Amino acid sequence: MPPFWTISLLSKDMTGQRIVVIGAGPAGLMAVGKAAEAGAHTLLLEKMKHPARKLCIAGKGRCNITNIADLPDFIAHFGKTGSFLRQAFWRFFTPDLMDFFRALGLELVTERGGRVFPASGKAPDVLAALLQWLEWGGVQIKLSSKVDELTTGNERIKGVVSRGREIPCDAVILATGGASYPATGSTGDGYRLAVSAGHSIVPIRPALVPLETSGDAVGKMAGLNLRNIKAHLLVNSKRRKKAFGEMMFTESGVTGPVILTLSGEAVDAMREGHKVVLSADLKPALDEKKLDARLLRDIASRGKENISSLLRGLLPREMIPVCLDLIEIPPDRQAGRISTKERRRLRTWLKDFRLEVTGYRPLDEAIVTAGGIDTGEIDPRTMESRLTKGLFIAGELLDIQADTGGYNLQAAFSTGWLAGVSAAQGV
Ligand SMILES: Cc1cc2nc3c(=O)[nH]c(=O)nc-3n(C[C@H](O)[C@H](O)[C@H](O)COP(=O)(O)OP(=O)(O)OC[C@H]3O[C@@H](n4cnc5c(N)ncnc54)[C@H](O)[C@@H]3O)c2cc1C
Repeated sequence: MPPFWTISLLSKDMTGQRIVVIGAGPAGLMAVGKAAEAGAHTLLLEKMKHPARKLCIAGKGRCNITNIADLPDFIAHFGKTGSFLRQAFWRFFTPDLMDFFRALGLELVTERGGRVFPASGKAPDVLAALLQWLEWGGVQIKLSSKVDELTTGNERIKGVVSRGREIPCDAVILATGGASYPATGSTGDGYRLAVSAGHSIVPIRPALVPLETSGDAVGKMAGLNLRNIKAHLLVNSKRRKKAFGEMMFTESGVTGPVILTLSGEAVDAMREGHKVVLSADLKPALDEKKLDARLLRDIASRGKENISSLLRGLLPREMIPVCLDLIEIPPDRQAGRISTKERRRLRTWLKDFRLEVTGYRPLDEAIVTAGGIDTGEIDPRTMESRLTKGLFIAGELLDIQADTGGYNLQAAFSTGWLAGVSAAQGV
């Protein structure tokens, strides 16, 4: 039986590049669609039974596809890894992605923080739009088709090996994603494949991941969600990064948007052996003076109540015993009888509640994988490998990672777009 690649070639004219795309996540889907649009003969190989499983759970099933932040702000969300993306974003950025989906009939909404979602609130609708586009483009998709090997010769790509068969081609776009949430199919295969083609890997580690903290305070508040707090990450007692928004307590630590935002820096600092502490300001709208005035006012008007009852106006119920225990004020102390020193301790705690960070959850629980294929080995104008001709790399497999807010998916779509367009132009 001839390989299915041959069948596909025979059914088309022979002018275009033969391009194999590995991985049907957002990067691979965009790449293969663009390559097909540009006239290439395309084959998309996906190892799972269904495409884009991670995309379908993104944004808690609502899929935050991008963010309307302007380019400098957008790039800043990638930290040190952002500058590599400048060229890809110049070619295909947020407005282009939004126009692309709208042209496919997908309505979009922009929410708080500039985050863009499908108006239906359903991530699978994003996938459905992409699959429709690929069908129109005549892309061949093979599911349950894991790629085990890349074949190379004379420093250029020759083909791929999947299900024991070699598939010859002119270009390969490697878009196998990172190593987080492995049940979605992103098990880190691409790192091994890229290494086989001569690439180096910046050590992978979890990013956008819950943190673990010392002591039993958090466990007592497990499940409690705090809104509108400001948190600082302290590394060796120096403020390193801050975030504003929601934070949630777990049995062994903290999670939620604020924590995920700070987690990448926290993980890296811990891996370098530094002391990492989280400082939460529970009353960011009040400076110390205003907070003290508020406490004094409350005490003057409700001095006969005990301190636990008085604090109900300032803290969620579950936090009150934890707070009083940590600042060593008996919960039944009459509010009017707390000393100036005790009031100062309370005020300081409300503005600077500290948790020592002792660890982080594993890659399985991380929203993205930090580290990956060294971007110094990739041409940012084309996404082509500088080491193996005809090999293009896109998406989270690269050493790029951003905060939450739609930045990671835009990076996958933009690098996929550029890889698809470039690969189709010939190598
Ligand atoms: C729970 C969760 C929620 C998220 N929410 C958001 C969000 O709302 N907004 C946002 O911007 N980002 C979000 N992200 C991150 C975002 O989903 C990823 O950055 C993005 O999916 C990466 O796209 P990708 O195409 O590079 O890789 P992936 O989406 O990981 O796709 C890679 C594909 O390659 C396939 N594959 C792997 N190995 C092989 C092989 N050997 N052969 C063939 N196929 C293979 C995999 O099965 C998979 O289908 C979220 C991530 C998670 C885990």
